[in-house]
Amino acid sequence: MLDALLFTKTSPLLSAVYRDCLWRVNTKEKILYLTFDDGPIAEITPFVLDELKRWKAKATFFCIGKNVEANSEIFQRIINEGHSIGNHTYDHLNGWNYSDKEYFENIEKCAAVLNLQSSPVDRNGMKQIFNLQLFRPPYGKLKPSQYAKLKLQYKLVMWDVLSFDFDLKMEEEKMLQNVLKNTETGSIIVMHDSLKAKPKVEYALPKILEYFSEKGFVFNAL
Ligand SMILES: [Zn+2]
Repeated sequence: MLDALLFTKTSPLLSAVYRDCLWRVNTKEKILYLTFDDGPIAEITPFVLDELKRWKAKATFFCIGKNVEANSEIFQRIINEGHSIGNHTYDHLNGWNYSDKEYFENIEKCAAVLNLQSSPVDRNGMKQIFNLQLFRPPYGKLKPSQYAKLKLQYKLVMWDVLSFDFDLKMEEEKMLQNVLKNTETGSIIVMHDSLKAKPKVEYALPKILEYFSEKGFVFNAL
């Protein structure tokens, strides 16, 4: 969850501090980047995958290591269907609350699970899209020391559109309108394949895909 950052559009200040993170993609083409954090889980990830498939959309899933261990078949489906994978730590740690050593070990533990679960050999003749180099910090929180080291090893992916799908107090339609209003060419949109976000994802994701597909946008994986 990213509940520490209560704004829909990323502030220029924050993106200036973390300037080596990817906040949006600089492109003139009508491309959008959906990202789903905190999965995979059986209750919502298959729904997300079905909807993406229906609109021929690709996305990026920032997975929690322990969820990948528990749901390896769903994880494999994400890979087989051509989406990208990113590391979101093993236990969804808030970097501010952990020593660098503990935090990096948790990231490495997640990386090991992702490597283990994904096949390095392409068994189905499909393009191997697995990309371990993407990392998104849970809650968007990193200490400066963690940021300094991680940016050398990973492509740190943040967002420019926060969907608020995790916010139980926000109405579904308001959440949808926030996303539709704030998304522009090259936007990186954060959603969650989590239990908390499930009602809003079920409501909004099909509408987001339809709205932008009809406007000629394509959804790509990072
Ligand atoms: Zn998260």
